[in-house]
Amino acid sequence: MEIIVAEHAGFCFGVEKAIQAAEKAARREPVFSLGPLLHNKQETARLKKLGIIEKDELMEKGAVLIRTHGVGPQTYELLEKQGSKIIDVTCPHVKKAQKVAREAAEQGYQVFILGDHQHVEVQGIVAWTENKAIVINSLEELKKIKLKDKVALLAQTTEKETNFNELVAYLQTQPLDLKILPTICSATRIRQKAAVKLAKQVDLMIVIGGRHSSNTKKLKEVCQKYVTTYQVEQADELQLKWFQNKFKIGVTAGASTPDWIIKEVIEQMEEYKMDVQEENMEESSKQNNVVTEEAVLPQTEETTPNSIDLGEQINIQTFRPGDLITGTIVQVASDEALIDIGGKSEGILPVTEFSNTKVDLCDVLEVGEEITVEVVKKDEEGNIILSRKRAHFNEIMEHLAQVKKANEIIEAPVIEIVKGGLLVDVGVKGFVPASQVELFFVKDFSEYLQKVLRLRILELEPEKGKVVLSQRIVLAEEREKQKAALLKDIEAGQTRKGVVKRLTNFGAFVDLGGLDGLLHVSELGWQRVDHPSDVVQEGQEIEVYVLSVDRDKEKISLSLKELLPDPWQEAIKKYEVNSIITGKVVRIVSFGAFVELEPGLDGLVHISKISKQRIDTVSDVLEVGQEIQAKIMSIDVERKRISLSIKDALIDEEEAKYASYLGHQDTQDLVTIGDLIKENQGE
Ligand code: SF4
Repeated sequence: MEIIVAEHAGFCFGVEKAIQAAEKAARREPVFSLGPLLHNKQETARLKKLGIIEKDELMEKGAVLIRTHGVGPQTYELLEKQGSKIIDVTCPHVKKAQKVAREAAEQGYQVFILGDHQHVEVQGIVAWTENKAIVINSLEELKKIKLKDKVALLAQTTEKETNFNELVAYLQTQPLDLKILPTICSATRIRQKAAVKLAKQVDLMIVIGGRHSSNTKKLKEVCQKYVTTYQVEQADELQLKWFQNKFKIGVTAGASTPDWIIKEVIEQMEEYKMDVQEENMEESSKQNNVVTEEAVLPQTEETTPNSIDLGEQINIQTFRPGDLITGTIVQVASDEALIDIGGKSEGILPVTEFSNTKVDLCDVLEVGEEITVEVVKKDEEGNIILSRKRAHFNEIMEHLAQVKKANEIIEAPVIEIVKGGLLVDVGVKGFVPASQVELFFVKDFSEYLQKVLRLRILELEPEKGKVVLSQRIVLAEEREKQKAALLKDIEAGQTRKGVVKRLTNFGAFVDLGGLDGLLHVSELGWQRVDHPSDVVQEGQEIEVYVLSVDRDKEKISLSLKELLPDPWQEAIKKYEVNSIITGKVVRIVSFGAFVELEPGLDGLVHISKISKQRIDTVSDVLEVGQEIQAKIMSIDVERKRISLSIKDALIDEEEAKYASYLGHQDTQDLVTIGDLIKENQGE
């Protein structure tokens, strides 16, 4: 006869923690427990001997222990008022149920609790909702109640998941704002799952636990669906006849069953072993002679738990800060996860101990996954606090050392802006000094939060947890490569795309990819430009014309106006040599005057062409702003020069006048136009 103990049999972490806290308190003074600490007569009797006394009413003074089931807020108030010393061992799962129920009620939800309305845990949760929550124990009960627009559903921590899911499925078909609050304790689910797994493999199941323990009763229920199951509170209830013709016996125990009772039950079964061995051998040999279908079935995926080793199986493991443990995730909420760390213990992994970045644990952890964690401490409530980030510290430091040695680039998000730089998450917190972020000075880092940087490790001191990184180095290296490629390919006369990096009074620096070229203010347009910002802006992508490249000095001159149509060339098409134009004097120089024909198109009237008389100073005759008429004497398209003459315009005018006059004279007078002009000029 083989005896196999199911995984997760016996005390859950909530009960174990409560017993430890009660024993510790009882060493100092008598402890009054508000009702039985757990549903197990034998253990309650043992605890009583230690000074943990069960009371149904509140004591006036002394230490009062609030059980794992929890109580309502009024009880706390009363205890505080009467000056009682409170030892609160409410299970974290129950506390969570109280909290979510209270919040849902405060938010105006009609709160339903699936469970036993007589159970103190349920009564406590109801009290936290100011008695607004409605307790139901079945779908039928729920269907009888008129639902409001906003409904929240939670369950007693030991409720069966199938029952809860049934209600969820029903409510999801209703047109309402539904809030599902998963409060069923994972310890119960895991214990039941392990028991079912074992029940499928054995000939008989023994469930150990108090008859009033709701989780033990449910454990029996789930096992007997697969195999004959007996529930006992203690060893002397076992009956020899149950084991006859049974080869494999499975054992499990409720959450309030102490190890010592499990041990006693198993020892009793060991004694029966010899008695039934002979009989079973006979039966076995009979069975071996008949090859049944079952006997040739392949093994299922499920592994058989190890045969009992009393020393190993019942030993409660102890954990010390710094211990590294690989456990299984059994429950995940946004801000914490419960990890089964063996030894019938569950530890809490708070989100702050998961990583340095803000995460929702539901997004990154999955129930059933294995995770390596480090034991941090036991908190005041006895919970084992775990850290994933500490467990990974050495691993991460080793990894970072390799990255540094190989001079690799590492990517990391910015998690905080601090004085002097940025903090990034490289598994641990790394520091990027402000001067190492960009190739240029950054005044305000607020836009860098959550941004992923590509970094090289500058300094690494694992013992101090110090990691200093630089993005600037990565950018500089990349820029050097780009610059070499650019200088190899770029030629004067090319058109290139670039990004305006910086504006100065004398021009704009344009990043051509590896090197900045200078777009001088005079090259920004055909018209006069006072400041580069009148034409381009920082960050703007533009096309530029390459005027010249100096590879030795790594200087590139650019032009924007070369890519724009030349207004002079366009405008000049309208004008012809010998035509008379009207223009305005815009500038007077010693050798003549510049006359604007139209914006952007000036011509020069040489001093000798200003008047028919000789003049010494231009300003004696002309002034800026004066409108004049002049004759276009020549146009040099290439040099963009227009030569004008006021004098010739006057001569032309006079010739025209005299020609009209002479047209009416007798040709015999033989006076020519030239004669007239000469006369007019006083020659
Ligand atoms: S069964 Fe679950 S809810 Fe109840 S005390 Fe144990 S861990 Fe807490």
